[in-house]
Amino acid sequence: MVRSNWQQQLSQAIRDPQVLCERLGLDSDLLAGAQLGHELFEVCVPEAYLAKIAPADLSDPLLLQVLPLGKEASTTPGYVADPLEEADHQPAKGLIHKYANRVLLIASPACAINCRYCFRRHFPYSENSPSRAQWQEALEYLRADPSIHEAILSGGDPLAASDRQLAWLAEQLESIPHLKRLRIHTRLPVVIPDRIDDALLGWLSKSRLQKVVVLHINHANEIDQAVVDACTRLKQAGVTLLNQSVLLKGVNDSVPTLATLSERLFEAGVLPYYLHVLDPVQGAAHFDVPDAVAQALVKELLEHLPGFLMPRLVREVPGKMSKTPL
Ligand SMILES: *Cc1c(COP(=O)(O)O)cnc(C)c1O
Ligand code: SF4
Repeated sequence: MVRSNWQQQLSQAIRDPQVLCERLGLDSDLLAGAQLGHELFEVCVPEAYLAKIAPADLSDPLLLQVLPLGKEASTTPGYVADPLEEADHQPAKGLIHKYANRVLLIASPACAINCRYCFRRHFPYSENSPSRAQWQEALEYLRADPSIHEAILSGGDPLAASDRQLAWLAEQLESIPHLKRLRIHTRLPVVIPDRIDDALLGWLSKSRLQKVVVLHINHANEIDQAVVDACTRLKQAGVTLLNQSVLLKGVNDSVPTLATLSERLFEAGVLPYYLHVLDPVQGAAHFDVPDAVAQALVKELLEHLPGFLMPRLVREVPGKMSKTPL
């Protein structure tokens, strides 16, 4: 079988709730709700991710992450459009500087999958997709601040950008002497593992910067052989691999599920990094796990895992200088 390249796979992703329901043999009763959710935040599921979802199972932990639901339209007190108040920390277009020594660069407005719980589901991406000329302001900001040691490519999903653009950006960053590390926060290797191709590995492996890729995987079922192979290619290019998850009701809010995820990550050469509690973004309240439940889960998880496979349970609190441990 000849697989198409990642751009084709992305352009052929399922973007119609009806097609998603039909492909997975889901009850047509769901469709009205799915349409409503889709109007708020469009559905997007590439085939490589769809293939990991069990058909006709409404409790599938991967399906729950991507299926739009009518309840996304309900409002919940405390759940807002920009829970992290990032709009207040943008010294230049495409740049978020909230924490010491490191900055986020919004390298691509697009994602390869639309996760229903995403805290960026209301993000004004069209205002945050700089061209090369527009990156100059952000790059000047980095050049002028020797305290910044790490550039974190974020998004959307930074790996949704073309390798030409990413290679250019990486080169600009390499020319800033005080930058030591390039970090990439991405879900693409999990969603379309073919994204980790020779073009990407080419610019990445030749960078002088130390490279860290933080994956976003919430459930062990997301890690199939293609994902393991993508991780292996990244490691061979000198990348340190970490993972962050979001604690999601119905998806991964149990000790066995979280323990299996950590074990499976390590088999793929990835260390758990953060377990985030849900950001209170409008439309995602049904994924919430109360703090007391989250803390009890993590306490019990300690008894099932070696220390190095324990993710840190954190929350992002607007105005704080780091993630806040729970
Ligand atoms: C999460 C985040 C970072 C990275 O934080 P680490 O604790 O280093 O992983 C940096 N900047 C912003 C704005 C963030 O939200
Ligand atoms: S890949 Fe990340 S940024 Fe994109 S929708 Fe999913 S959680 Fe949000």
